[in-house]
Amino acid sequence: TMDFTDRVTRVEPSATLAISALSKELTADGIDVIDLSVGEPDFPTPENISQAAKDAMDAGHTGYASAKGVPELQEAVAEKLQADGLEHGPENVIVTPGAKQALYEIVHSLVQEGDEVVLLDPAWVSYEAMVKMAGGSLSRVDLSPYDFQLEPGLDDLAEAVSDETELLIVNSPSNPTGAVYTDAALEGVRDLAVEHDVTVISDEIYKEITYGVEPTSLGTFEGMADRTITVNGFSKAYSMTGWRLGYFAGPEDLIEQAGKLHSHSVSSAVNFVQHAGIEALENTDDAVEEMVEAFEQRRDLVVDLLAEEGVDVAVPEGAFYMMLPVDEDDQAWCEGALEDAHVAAVPGSAFGTPGYARISYAASEERLREGIERLAEEGYL
Ligand code: PLP
Repeated sequence: TMDFTDRVTRVEPSATLAISALSKELTADGIDVIDLSVGEPDFPTPENISQAAKDAMDAGHTGYASAKGVPELQEAVAEKLQADGLEHGPENVIVTPGAKQALYEIVHSLVQEGDEVVLLDPAWVSYEAMVKMAGGSLSRVDLSPYDFQLEPGLDDLAEAVSDETELLIVNSPSNPTGAVYTDAALEGVRDLAVEHDVTVISDEIYKEITYGVEPTSLGTFEGMADRTITVNGFSKAYSMTGWRLGYFAGPEDLIEQAGKLHSHSVSSAVNFVQHAGIEALENTDDAVEEMVEAFEQRRDLVVDLLAEEGVDVAVPEGAFYMMLPVDEDDQAWCEGALEDAHVAAVPGSAFGTPGYARISYAASEERLREGIERLAEEGYL
C-alpha cells in the first residue's frame, strides 16, 4: 500500500462534494434539480474575451509564457490595481491559473508547521484546506452573530489575533455571505495587523460584483502596503471560471519566494488565456456591469421571496451568495432539501458555520423562483 503524507491525509474532502454527488445522482435519474450550490456565474464568457483567445492562438501565443505572466497582462493588472489605489508595478504581479493557485502559492510561501492563521467565519472552504496542507493551525472568528459583518465582530477578531499569528485572510465581498466590509472594519484589521505584525491576504475575487457599495482594497490603508497580498481573478467578474486565470500582487520579497513555488509547479498560466485576460481587463466593463445588474435583481428577488416566507437573511452587498438560516444540522437540511425539494445548497458547516446553508443566486429568476417555491412547499423554509 502507498504511504500517504500527513499533508494530504489531514485534509477532509470538501463537504460540498457530498451534495454535488447526490445532486448528480438525482439528475442522472431524470430529476430536475435546481442547483443553487454552484460558485460560478451562469453567464457565458463575454464574446470579445473568447475572440481575443482565438486571435491569440492564431497569432501563435501557444508556447510557454514567461513564468510570472505575459508582460502586457502584468502591466494591465498593475494598472487595474493602481486604479484601486494600490501602488504595485507589473514586477509585483504574478499571474496564476486561477485565484485558487495564487492563494495556494501565497499560503505555502508563508505558512509552515505550527504557524497560526486567522480566518473570518464563515470562510471559503479552501482556505482551511490550504492552511492545513501547509501544516498551519487555524484560529477562527465567528461573524455569524453579527449578520456576518466584521465591524461589530472586531473585538472577537482582536481576541483571535496575537503575536503568534502569522497570517490573516480577509475576503470581501465574502464567499459565502456576500458581506462587504466597511472601511471602519478594515481599519480595525489594519490596526491589529500592524500591532501584531501580521501578514494579510486580501482575497478580492468578488470586488467587481457589488450592489451600491464600493469596497476598499485593504492594501491601500496606511501601514498595509508592505504586509498585504492582494488576490484577484477573472472567474467571477468576467464569467471565466473554466479558463483558470487569476493573479496576486505583493511586496517584492513575497513575489520572489512565491515565484519559485509558481515556476516549479505550474510554470505559468496558459499563454493565450492570458491574452484574453488583457482584453477582459481593458474592454469588458459594459458586459461586467450588465452581469452585476442581473445579479442585483436576482438578489432582490430572492431576499423578497424569502421574506414572504418569513425568512430573514443578512442581505448581501456583493458576490452572488447568501446564507440561509436553517436547522442546526445543516448537512441533514441540505440532504433533505435536495431529496425532497430537489434544490441543492451547500451546508454552512463547510464554511465553518453550522446552522446555515449557502445558496447561490447565479441562476435565472425563473429557477430561483421555483427553487424557493419548492423549498417552501416541502417545509424547508
Ligand atoms: N476565492 C474565493 C473566495 C472564491 O470563492 C473562489 C472560487 O470559488 C476563489 C478564490 C478561486 O477562484 P478561481 O480559482 O476560479 O480564480
